Amino acid sequence: MLDTTTRNLVKATVPVLKEHGVTLTRHFYARMFAHNPELKPIFNQGNQQSGSQQQALAMAVLAYAEHIDSPMVLLPVLTLVANKHVSLGIRAEHYPIVGKHLLASIKEVLGNAASDELLQAWAAAYGQLADVLIAQETAIYAKAATIPGGWTGWRSFVVSKKIVESDEISSFYLKPADGGAVPDYQPGQYISVKVFVPELGIMQPRQYSLSCSPGQEYLRISVKREAEMPGKPAGLVSNVLHRDVQQGAMLDVAPPMGNYVLHEDRDTPVVLISAGVGVTPKLAMLEHLLKQNTPRQIRFLHACRHGGVHAFKQQVREWSQQFAQVKTMTYYEVPRAEDQVAIDYDQQGRLNLQDLSSDFLLADADYYVCGPRAFMQAQITSLRDMGIASDRIHKEAFGSGGFAH
Ligand code: FAD
Repeated sequence: MLDTTTRNLVKATVPVLKEHGVTLTRHFYARMFAHNPELKPIFNQGNQQSGSQQQALAMAVLAYAEHIDSPMVLLPVLTLVANKHVSLGIRAEHYPIVGKHLLASIKEVLGNAASDELLQAWAAAYGQLADVLIAQETAIYAKAATIPGGWTGWRSFVVSKKIVESDEISSFYLKPADGGAVPDYQPGQYISVKVFVPELGIMQPRQYSLSCSPGQEYLRISVKREAEMPGKPAGLVSNVLHRDVQQGAMLDVAPPMGNYVLHEDRDTPVVLISAGVGVTPKLAMLEHLLKQNTPRQIRFLHACRHGGVHAFKQQVREWSQQFAQVKTMTYYEVPRAEDQVAIDYDQQGRLNLQDLSSDFLLADADYYVCGPRAFMQAQITSLRDMGIASDRIHKEAFGSGGFAH
């Protein structure tokens, strides 16, 4: 535990962090990549370019300063961050490098306001945070390496099959190139995949949720191609995967990670809520529940723009016809002429949980939400307004950071 003087010094920086946090983190990343370019392949350069990583780190530093008296309240978020770090290959030896550039950035951005005492206080605070994360990450690495079929770091997988699921989503079936076993994982977890990005001239990792239940002889991910849009360049890795990675290609894969998982210790009903490619972890959860012959009631709510981008509709329809406890509700925001109401979708417009009857939504359920940031915010607000306890609301953001929401 840090002493009172140190904690007070860190807390005194809260107003500055609120105002200049992003300036600080922008400076930090630029400094670190200039001095240690070997770290670039570990960090998501798309999030660097969009600015979302700088925003996420600024929020993280601020949250840490605000909670410096009782940092353990941040433990759930730190667990999420530790899982992400392991999936990216961040190791204990990287922390001193990050710490050095963070402290130098505080000094360079705050100028005279950064006294020696303040810098020492932040050095101690950073050291404490690093120790917590390194301990968690060491345990996660060890567990990932020791489970049957497990490994640590990157392992080569071969793309045994590539299947088009919609106009913008394709699935990649991945088998270990060494012929070894596929590890068990919890439905909802993700893997990291690393590919060479020609535009950057370096490797880049990205996380992808496993989109099938565990216990198969492959891992499957389903990737949306992030197309160029006004003001937004085409996504780097998703386009490499769609354009360059075909059946037979090799991919570097990090072990399954993440704590957005199906709670199998509960017998509550399960409500799965997604938009767009946020459907992927839900598919793993649904398939797993059905393979276990679950007696739990299941609702599968999905929103997308129209039938052209509605992935896995056939599979989900078959499951709902086969298993009486599965009921689906699909929303198309802008249906096309060829989209057939009642077969492909139920409602036109956006998903609004408040419009659904409590019979359909199921009281006392666990709710799993995944989709774009604005969609998730809307659903989580609705669930809270409906009085759902926060330990029944489970969420996965497909973006950077863990301090949002
Ligand atoms: P990037 O190059 O990383 O760009 C990301 C976004 O930033 C793009 O929309 C891009 O247009 C925008 N951007 C980049 N530069 C700028 C700029 N200068 N200005 C404005 N905008 C900019 N994705 C899936 O498809 N399926 C999944 O199952 C899935 N699961 C995930 C699970 C987790 C836990 C996480 C964290 C993410 C998941 N993702 C999933 C998202 C995935 O990891 C990638 O983020 C996604 O594929 C985009 O990566 P990219 O390299 O193509 O885009």
